[in-house]
Amino acid sequence: MEYHRMIAIKIKSMGESSTIAISQKANLLRKKGVDVISLAVGEPDFDTPENIKETAVKSIKAGFTKYTPVDGVDDLKEAICLKLKRENNLDYSPSEIIVSCGAKHSLYNISQVLFEKDDEVIILAPYWVTYPAQVELTGAKPIIIDTSSSEDMMVSARELDTFVTSKTKAIILNNPCNPSGKVYGKQELETIAHAAVENNFLIIADEVYEKFVYEDANQVSVAALSEETKSRTITVNGVSKAYAMTGWRIGYAAGPQPIIDAMKKLQGQITTNPASISQHAATEALLGPQSDVDHMRKEYQKRRDYIVKELNSIEGVSCRMPEGAFYVFPNIANLFKKKSGAGVIRDSVSFCSYILDEACVAMVPGKAFGCDNFVRLSYATDMQSITEGVKRIKQAVDKLK
Ligand code: PMP
Ligand code: GLU
Repeated sequence: MEYHRMIAIKIKSMGESSTIAISQKANLLRKKGVDVISLAVGEPDFDTPENIKETAVKSIKAGFTKYTPVDGVDDLKEAICLKLKRENNLDYSPSEIIVSCGAKHSLYNISQVLFEKDDEVIILAPYWVTYPAQVELTGAKPIIIDTSSSEDMMVSARELDTFVTSKTKAIILNNPCNPSGKVYGKQELETIAHAAVENNFLIIADEVYEKFVYEDANQVSVAALSEETKSRTITVNGVSKAYAMTGWRIGYAAGPQPIIDAMKKLQGQITTNPASISQHAATEALLGPQSDVDHMRKEYQKRRDYIVKELNSIEGVSCRMPEGAFYVFPNIANLFKKKSGAGVIRDSVSFCSYILDEACVAMVPGKAFGCDNFVRLSYATDMQSITEGVKRIKQAVDKLK
């Protein structure tokens, strides 16, 4: 049988998640004994805090191992409402919340219930790799606005206006941004909110990195700007990044009742509820002590300061100081046209291949995020790997002619 012919075109034409593909490649090389340093995946190197793990063990022992309501257990939805009120100044009732299998799943649900053929969805580049893929899967068209050449990685009101059409259904806003680490200021959010209100489109606000914001930067939820903005915003968050719980698969969305209801209907046919045990663990994460999060943030900040300084000391590399998340996104365009033993560095992909082959360091090419002049390095890994990784990159760049 010609299996390839049997696969749906929408899946054949979908790009693979490069963040996941590259880190899996690095893991495979490591298993084969290659001394690879992976600065590719955005996954906290910290372990899930002990109080959260203990809660999960207790849940298993107590037999909390059955289906739960599709949209999550009441305790967790109430904890999410409390969190949104306390930390984000947002008022939601539990019925306006849906818990899903990771924020990625929440975003997938949102795309599926909102978008269809002929819709346009604005995405600011650099963007997280998954946004365009999820939008395209619905038949809608991602409209990419490249912000990478502006110093503050932001689109101006005037430019945004030129991309809005009568087909614009939503904008996806990632604050803090993966991969740039940009944290949008209140005024910048107002620019986007204003355009959304004026042109009647929705805002999908992905805030999964909100706990990792450094120094004076201040992360504001776009939905908290005004009632009008809130009424057209779906806020997405989760516990993967904040509590080092990537494997537990808990994310959530808060938004207007009809949209959340549509997501519940879809989820009921797709996955039913997220894992019962993970839901108890996530409730403890949100309501329990937060000292581990503070510790992680302080560590990330030290790593950020170090990696930015070191990258900027490499000739041909220039790195903006990110205000949040755990990524750096240096510009490497000055290295293009240089030659290595294996050929010419033409773009971010050939640069990353060269560094992986020559220095055994894995990074993600900026092309995956819509900005080919850049590469992404994750500093959610231990300081020793970061130090060694950057040293190796420097040596490999020095060899280019
Ligand atoms: N949004 C962004 C911007 C991300 O980087 C990630 C990373 N996994 C997610 C959402 C999804 O997180 P998860 O599904 O693990 O909750
Ligand atoms: N979000 C992380 C990253 O960008 C994890 C992998 C993924 O889900 O894309 O590396």
